[in-house]
Amino acid sequence: MKTLFITGGSRGIGAAIADKFIKDDYHVIMPARGEMDLSSPVSIKKYFKKNSGIKVDCIVNNAGVNPLAFVDELTDEEIFETVNVNLIAPLMITRALVKGMKKRGCGRIVNIGSIWGVVSKEKRAVYSMTKNGIHGLTNTLAVELGGDNILVNTVCPGYTNTELTKKNVPLPEAKNISKDIPLGRFAEPEEIAEIVYFLGSSRNTYITGQKIVIDGGFTIK
Ligand code: NAP
Repeated sequence: MKTLFITGGSRGIGAAIADKFIKDDYHVIMPARGEMDLSSPVSIKKYFKKNSGIKVDCIVNNAGVNPLAFVDELTDEEIFETVNVNLIAPLMITRALVKGMKKRGCGRIVNIGSIWGVVSKEKRAVYSMTKNGIHGLTNTLAVELGGDNILVNTVCPGYTNTELTKKNVPLPEAKNISKDIPLGRFAEPEEIAEIVYFLGSSRNTYITGQKIVIDGGFTIK
């Protein structure tokens, strides 16, 4: 049986991704925040010390936070939480799990980025910084791990119907934004999960080091 390790599997895009792999008979490991707090490097280290024998076929670094604020209004807490959850955690998790993949000569890693790592919008300084950083991680890993048959990609969702979006985009604004999306609507988490599943499973044999944008055409306008 194959194993997926995913962060942020409790809801939203992460829950849809976990469902997709479960339907294909994967064993899914998705630590809850109480077991591994991604905003705390110490907590991540403790988790892997306790669970040192985990062998996984696929890692999906999905969990993310997005505090909306103009750059001069960001608090220290928002800056450090966002950098830790969105950027440091994916690196630490990959570092902990990739040794097993290298030994077995096979693996897939999917990092969840964002369109805000491709184009820009106000109030997203720290979020965009981390989502751009994720591409650096993906690119380096794709080069470093290609010889071990480990394929690494970033999926960049556009506006997707999750709690994060409900919190950050009030309904009247959502209606206006939808007018700027060629497909005329936000994505459903399952539509993002479909592509993550493809890239994270053995169906993907030759795509690595790529940013795959899933945004209904929003960023091409
Ligand atoms: P969401 O509904 O807000 O869910 C976030 C997930 O991350 C939850 O499972 C949450 O766990 C987990 N999480 C957050 N902070 C954590 C921490 N400190 N420790 C452990 N877990 C933590 O988010 P989403 O909309 O599904 O977004 C998922 C990913 O897609 C993120 O990387 C986001 O940046 C990206 N994305 C989303 C959109 C969108 O429109 N929704 C667009 C582009 C990119 P709890 O249940 O414990 O809170």
